[in-house]
Amino acid sequence: MRKPFIAGNWKMNTDSHSGVKLVQDIIAGCGEIAGNKVDVAVCPPFVYLQQVGKALSSSRVALGAQDIYFEQKGAFTGEISPAMLKDVGCTYALCGHSERRHVIGETDELINKKVHAAILGGLLPILCVGELLEERKQNKTTEVVTRQMKKGLAGLTPEKVSAVTIAYEPVWAIGTGLTATPQQAQEVHALIRELMAQMYNKKIASEVRIQYGGSVKADNAGELMGQEDLDGLLVGGASLKADDFVTIIKASA
Ligand code: PEP
Repeated sequence: MRKPFIAGNWKMNTDSHSGVKLVQDIIAGCGEIAGNKVDVAVCPPFVYLQQVGKALSSSRVALGAQDIYFEQKGAFTGEISPAMLKDVGCTYALCGHSERRHVIGETDELINKKVHAAILGGLLPILCVGELLEERKQNKTTEVVTRQMKKGLAGLTPEKVSAVTIAYEPVWAIGTGLTATPQQAQEVHALIRELMAQMYNKKIASEVRIQYGGSVKADNAGELMGQEDLDGLLVGGASLKADDFVTIIKASA
């Protein structure tokens, strides 16, 4: 039985005050659900990790980073190491979010190094995959997601891959208000689970949690989560409003 996992990606939003208030309201709204019925995480901007981490430290809402660097320390100006993220209380790290792939230009090879580094540093990576609109129109979704999965997880042993959550986020649905239909999402989630069976084994495929992301809102979360292979949600915009995020968590319980 896969426990639902809902994560909020705050992207480059909030400030120190509003970030702390947001997480406090989420904790209060979730009550006993967080950590018991649903795993919940928030991913604030790097600079607010410590303050938000302090605000959630006595709750069961976990802290996640929006990105990570693969080196342990040294002359990498502007980057943040796995040990630094651990030090401020992170449990999770997003790897290969579509905005990092398509706005910043991260490659599958770089993302793979980040996934390895996160695991080595004791963090749980959330590997994001998903096709562009043109790729979907050209019927390339399977090809793109297969490539991102194989390259993103390259070199991971079965023991290590059990630390990974996959987030399927069709790029055309992120921040656009266009959500994949539950059927479209389920189709790709089933493909991802099948890929995990081929690359690893059936047990790992049945245990891996696969989140959907892309304009998830309070009113579509329940229907999406009703799909067989959807185990959670990666939520951007709607995670910035405590009431909406709590409704999404409750709909997933
Ligand atoms: C995201 O940031 O991963 C995301 C899915 O954003 P939104 O929910 O705003 O589409």
